[in-house]
Amino acid sequence: MNKRNFLLMSSVTMLMAACNSKSVKGIATSDKKIVVVGAGMAGLAAANMLHKLGYKVTVLEARKRIGGRVWTSRLWSDVPVDLGASWIHGEHKNPLTKLAKDLGVRRLPTNYDNSIVYGNEGKPIDNKIDKEANKIFNKLVRQVFNNASDPETIFDAIENTNLWKGLSKQQRQSVMHLLNTTIEHEFSGALNEISAVNPDDSEAFSGEDMMFPDGYGLLTDYLATGIEIKMEHAVEEIEYQNDKVVVKTNISEFLADQVIVTLPVGVLKKGSVKFIPPLPESKQQAVDVIGFGLLDKLFLRFPYVFWDKNKEILNWISDEHGRWNEWLNIAAYTEKPVLLGFNAAEYARKTEQWSDEEIVNDAMSVLRTIYGTDIPDPESWQITRWGKDPFAYGSYSFNGVGANSDSRLALAETINDRLFFAGEATSEDYPSTVHGAYLSGIEAAENISNTVLK
Ligand SMILES: Cc1cc2nc3c(=O)[nH]c(=O)nc-3n(C[C@H](O)[C@H](O)[C@H](O)COP(=O)(O)OP(=O)(O)OC[C@H]3O[C@@H](n4cnc5c(N)ncnc54)[C@H](O)[C@@H]3O)c2cc1C
Repeated sequence: MNKRNFLLMSSVTMLMAACNSKSVKGIATSDKKIVVVGAGMAGLAAANMLHKLGYKVTVLEARKRIGGRVWTSRLWSDVPVDLGASWIHGEHKNPLTKLAKDLGVRRLPTNYDNSIVYGNEGKPIDNKIDKEANKIFNKLVRQVFNNASDPETIFDAIENTNLWKGLSKQQRQSVMHLLNTTIEHEFSGALNEISAVNPDDSEAFSGEDMMFPDGYGLLTDYLATGIEIKMEHAVEEIEYQNDKVVVKTNISEFLADQVIVTLPVGVLKKGSVKFIPPLPESKQQAVDVIGFGLLDKLFLRFPYVFWDKNKEILNWISDEHGRWNEWLNIAAYTEKPVLLGFNAAEYARKTEQWSDEEIVNDAMSVLRTIYGTDIPDPESWQITRWGKDPFAYGSYSFNGVGANSDSRLALAETINDRLFFAGEATSEDYPSTVHGAYLSGIEAAENISNTVLK
């Protein structure tokens, strides 16, 4: 079972949204101009489909690169690393599995059970103690989700249980570790931000989580093929009128019949793109209640593997909440001496303020606690700071207090048949994921096509 499925109370939806959604009307014969804001997975999926249907599409992208939160770095030529999304969550019937298969892109499963847990002092945790911590964690999570009431966050709800109140210091540390790696790393929000009443009302595809040893970016690269994309065009203003939309960037102005907006919720929250007139209240409310969290990655490349080379996941139970609690052993998939450390939520927000050297030193002190002081220094590293990224301001959306699938629907709502919205956070069924972004883009393209031709 993959980690997301653990928390999903809802049944698995086997049908792809592409099959669910209305069929597309004919092939475009009109000369309507469509502008797509953002060349991430949602924007590229939409543009690719509209292009294939015969529309004139222009994608406006603020960065020097495409892919958005799908970002494969090829800095290390022999081992591409994904600085944004890594996994297809749930491979069965997932539209991205089909896309990857059609393109011949390699995928490898992750076995989360192939893991080891180290205690704060760096010694492996006894199996019995680990099992007990998992049992307490499962019970706690069930109690929290069954009894919480608004406006409680997961953290509030935990503190209110007798179970939590009765735990020893060591049990609390182990449970906090599991809460960090299972909830904060998955949802990117902090325990004191995520709604306890409705932490997750999404659907999930079944099957393993699959990674891309050659890079997730191969999928977005493919979708971008043949599409007109204006790079380094940061959209600053979108003026939607009854008969047209004017999109202003830092470089020039674009007139469109329809626009698809795929801006991350972090960008919408920041207000760095001005909408004229302002977004309707229901949409603005959705932007306010949907949380936008933080998950950061640190890739460390060493001269050789000194860690548990056959384990996929390395856990460390920290004193300070969320500090380098989880590592992915990239060597297990690529045979290259690379480790990937994750930080989410509060600890990630803290480390983002540090220099690269400070981040690496902090991570190395944890690895030295576990593997000894004589381990080598890293030869090089790659670090993300998604929270400081002006074209994301975070990693992905989660359900803050008051957010639910209606908030996602409000965010996705079309305005006047002119302004369409896509992106992971607009996905009612699959928010926070690449496949959610992909399906939302396809749906927006279908909606435009049906609107234009009606
Ligand atoms: C560290 C990390 C790990 C993740 N892990 C996974 C995972 O393993 N599996 C998974 O399914 N999902 C994962 N996700 C989430 C996944 O990456 C996103 O849900 C998905 O890629 C979002 O796609 P999108 O098209 O909605 O948004 P984006 O990819 O953010 O696309 C939006 C685009 O708009 C552009 N833009 C922003 N502002 C402007 C502007 N003013 N003008 C023009 N363009 C602008 C951006 O540059 C970007 O290219 C992860 C995300 C992160 C950050």
